Amino acid sequence: MNDHVYPVPADWAERAKINKERYAELYRESLSNPDAFWRREAQRLDWQKPFTKVSESSFDEATFGISWFSDGQLNVSANCIDRHLAERGDQPAIIWEPDSPPEMGGGEGRIITYAQLHEAVCRLANGLKSLGIRKGDRVTIYLPMIPEAAISMLACARIGAIHSVVFGGFSPDSIANRVQDCDSRLIITADEGLRGGKVVPLKANVDEALKLLHGPTVEKVVVVTRTGAGVWMEEGRDLSYEELVAAQSPDCPADVLNAEDPLFILYTSGSTGKPKGVLHTMGGYLTWASMTHEYVFDYRPGEIFWCAADVGWVTGHSYVVYGSLANGATTLMYEGVPNFPDFSRFWQIIDKYQVQIFYAAPTALRALMREGDDWVTKTSRASLRLLGSVGEPINPEAWEWYHRVVGEGRCPIVDTWWQTETGAAMITPMPGATDLKPGSASFPMFGVEPQLVDGDGHVLEGATEGNLVLTRSWPGQMRTVWGDHRRFFETYFTTYRGKYFTGDGCRRDADGYYWITGRVDDVINVSGHRMGTAEVESALVAHAKVAEAAVVGYPHDLKGQGIYAYVTLNANDVPSEALRRDLVQWVRKEIGPIATPDVIQFAPGLPKTRSGKIMRRILRKIAENDVSSLGDTSTLADPSVVADLVANRAGAS
Ligand code: ATP
Ligand code: MG
Repeated sequence: MNDHVYPVPADWAERAKINKERYAELYRESLSNPDAFWRREAQRLDWQKPFTKVSESSFDEATFGISWFSDGQLNVSANCIDRHLAERGDQPAIIWEPDSPPEMGGGEGRIITYAQLHEAVCRLANGLKSLGIRKGDRVTIYLPMIPEAAISMLACARIGAIHSVVFGGFSPDSIANRVQDCDSRLIITADEGLRGGKVVPLKANVDEALKLLHGPTVEKVVVVTRTGAGVWMEEGRDLSYEELVAAQSPDCPADVLNAEDPLFILYTSGSTGKPKGVLHTMGGYLTWASMTHEYVFDYRPGEIFWCAADVGWVTGHSYVVYGSLANGATTLMYEGVPNFPDFSRFWQIIDKYQVQIFYAAPTALRALMREGDDWVTKTSRASLRLLGSVGEPINPEAWEWYHRVVGEGRCPIVDTWWQTETGAAMITPMPGATDLKPGSASFPMFGVEPQLVDGDGHVLEGATEGNLVLTRSWPGQMRTVWGDHRRFFETYFTTYRGKYFTGDGCRRDADGYYWITGRVDDVINVSGHRMGTAEVESALVAHAKVAEAAVVGYPHDLKGQGIYAYVTLNANDVPSEALRRDLVQWVRKEIGPIATPDVIQFAPGLPKTRSGKIMRRILRKIAENDVSSLGDTSTLADPSVVADLVANRAGAS
């Protein structure tokens, strides 16, 4: 549909850490001699006790287990902070930009050097110990995008407490479920959060959540002062973060921890069903986050790196915090949203701090694209040299816009495919090595061996389309579902024996590029012809008036399944019958008659998870007119969208 290829720019081919030859060489080695490859790559970390074992992993039921560097010892927080102090103690580790810009009273933001980060993390780690938190205890972090979120994660890592970050936009119900599932002993939250100029009552949400718990789990609630609003503090349970850390020593020796000790639990974003507590461990995860951060973003010391994801998602864990700081980077944390106070906010922040690398989600890019180019072009963006995308397939139309308008044609785009379960980027371009095809995540990261299989598990070769599986373990692989090792095995390793099943569909083209077509559960079967949702959605988004589209199947008497498309228009366009007909013709022309939408419903908004992913599960129910059982909608960003979709449901048969 879009066969434009963007070759590696000459200066990138010359300067990048990984060029074409190097990629081929390292990729080959990573599969043919993984032991040597990983022994070397893991040296990017400081090990208090060197490992002798590399991987002892098996996806087979009888020998099932995943383990990397298991006899090594290290401390994740020392790797992210202490070892940088001699060389870059005064370098900013975290640049923080508040929700509102200074001219609107947001204040000036904060710059935290590595030396200051060290002190802050040590104080909090001591504070946690003083509250009785020990290695292996779970700590829930429910904070806005403020430096204390990163500090809290690192303080837990320093003493071997297991953090579970719960996105600051979640409701009391969602907090309660996640706290209960892992029996957290302590919660770190803030009085209130600020997002897009609105106040989020974080502490009040925690109070609500605690009332919903069965049995005593949470003993203490530590409250960061963000807005200074007076909030309820329960005697004996709640205490001030600032008072806690002020009373502690600024030094806390880093504990010696095992490579396979748990680092964090993170509940998946819930696009497909009940969230799972994904568990990651110390040594393998940090090796993987650090390695991918360096190679995918071609990170160079001194550069300002901005990953716009919230720390409540795995992208924030691996690239705002762990991968960046392990590499001694300056990481930018932004508290707010892309469209507040206006649609220029991202680009203004890039100019303000001279950001070189910017990494965001397609959902944000599509939302900004629909408002027109002026918001972008009135800013400079001269500092940018690389752009990234993550979270969903990026429609070629949005890719082209990102490349042409935001990057002014000079910045490569790394479209990184990965999952909470995979820890960090798995299929992705590398800017000095990969000729880019808009919409394709391109090639596997070192050590990743993808395969496409059919429904019966037969391996498909060459240019083909199928279910994406991974045949071998990688260091950043999740180790278990918290509290339910059986569910871990059953969810990922029983669909195709001996292989990790990603749940995603994928196409491989004649040049070997991988194209994620969407979740396998979302595949539509029209008259025996299987279609990924991504392809039809991208065709719709390519229309000049369409900002965003979501496509699902619904039962159809003749075809088995029909195509039901929900379409959101650009800011200045209005729905009409003529436009509806035009869109149908447009898709027929772009893909072919087989993809003709049977129903098009214009929608002011689409149901999305809090991380911005379209929830097709709900759209399917509406298309099927099965609106009484929409299932778990607690992870929806804006539940009111659903009511509108139901009320204006188009007349599907
Ligand atoms: P849950 O597993 O709870 O249903 P989720 O899958 O949305 O939620 P994540 O782990 O955040 O939770 O998302 C991973 C999924 O996001 C991938 O399986 C894939 O479907 C999609 N994805 C992420 N990055 C990309 C990308 N670059 N291109 C295409 N799809 C992507
Ligand atoms: Mg998933």
